[in-house]
Amino acid sequence: MPSQLGTKTARILLALATIQQAVVGAPTGTSSAPIPTSLLGFNPANGVKFEDTDNIQFSLAPAQTQDASIGESLDFNGILNPQPIRGSKGGTDPGPRTEEYDVLNPDKLAPPGTDHGSVDNAEWPLGLSHTKMGLGRAGWSREQNVDNIPAATAMAGVDMRLEAGGYRELHWHTAAEWSYVLNGSVRIQAVDEEGRTFVDDLSAGDVWFFPAGVPHSLQALDGGVEFLLVFDDGSFSEDSTFLATELFARNPKSVLSKNFGGLPLSAWDNIPSGELFIFPGTPAPKDIAEQTVVGSAGILPIEQSYSFHLSKADPTVVTAGGSVKIIDPKSFPIAEKFSAAVVTIKPGALREIHWHTTSDEWNFFISGSARIGIYAAEGNARTFNYHAGDCGYIPKDMSHYVENIGKDDVIFIEVLQADHFSDISVGQWVGLTPPQIIMDTLNLTNSTVSQFKKEKQYVVQG
Ligand code: MN
Ligand code: MN
Repeated sequence: MPSQLGTKTARILLALATIQQAVVGAPTGTSSAPIPTSLLGFNPANGVKFEDTDNIQFSLAPAQTQDASIGESLDFNGILNPQPIRGSKGGTDPGPRTEEYDVLNPDKLAPPGTDHGSVDNAEWPLGLSHTKMGLGRAGWSREQNVDNIPAATAMAGVDMRLEAGGYRELHWHTAAEWSYVLNGSVRIQAVDEEGRTFVDDLSAGDVWFFPAGVPHSLQALDGGVEFLLVFDDGSFSEDSTFLATELFARNPKSVLSKNFGGLPLSAWDNIPSGELFIFPGTPAPKDIAEQTVVGSAGILPIEQSYSFHLSKADPTVVTAGGSVKIIDPKSFPIAEKFSAAVVTIKPGALREIHWHTTSDEWNFFISGSARIGIYAAEGNARTFNYHAGDCGYIPKDMSHYVENIGKDDVIFIEVLQADHFSDISVGQWVGLTPPQIIMDTLNLTNSTVSQFKKEKQYVVQG
């Protein structure tokens, strides 16, 4: 971009000259120099200096010159100096910018012509979240909640890492917790109100659920673990959990001694003074049976298990464009409000246009690059871009599609607060509506309408 450099250099020199003039003209040796009134308003002596801001070099992605309503995805990789231009609209941007944002978010820089009006933000890259650091390099977490997606009132998410042997300390919270293991393996345990116990080992692709208030802990097995946590409260924060360490530190030692049947006060001499959150621990025994503790209420019955080995289940739907694996209370009853789909979309393929009738959707991108187009009624529509590690949020009833716009498979999770996973498929809806109504409404030909399908397609091949 040598010519651009030239323009920039000229601009800098111009700015320097202006500063110099101002400095020379101003009185020195005082911290409160009077502002020269000759700079106020119109003054023929202050004529503008013309700068050719149109003279910037750039190229356009092929889809930028199409009619904007075609709205194809734009690939700015290898495009010189991407510009906010789509069809006959937009214009060049000579100004301050960070090109990497534009390459990552082509539908923000040059939206499809079908975008219109305003739609609440539906996207948060966890790469922009503050990381909460664990102790002793045992791990970390970062979260998305209403602070970064204000519309996300029903659910919040956390990405957490535990290195081998690292604990997420014993804790509980006011929200219910649903989790999907992203990589590695983990031992999870809990005790419920009846005194029933639970312990299990999970690996990538498995799911757990802890009801609100039920205390639990997590420990990474050999090789460590990373998992996604989804809470049924958009204002959830990892900072506002109830912790075993704090409970013991915040009750008088005399009360602790009495509570545990007259133990000496010295029993509590070495308890932590505050939260451990994430900390290194003794590696979990290989044999899980060594950590099975059973009281008179026994272990949690299998039909109420807090874990589901989803990695071992086959996809619910396989299509030419990808697959969908559904997990909901029909197979995982304890998670009575969590219904989710793990969706794989091949390059160029599309998770078909649909909406959810009973719940907002919280989503998370495990791999690939995608865009989601949201139609929000009252003429409003907006397109958002997503990459691995990004969270998304789509309010109830707003239609959306998820299009793979990269070269790798997109894998993402749609999470609903619902007793089963469901959607209205636009393809199926119009396919099952009397053709005359569709033709009159959308001004379509009989030959177009006759090709509509009567079944959901879930993921349509590109
Ligand atoms: Mn938890
Ligand atoms: Mn959806």
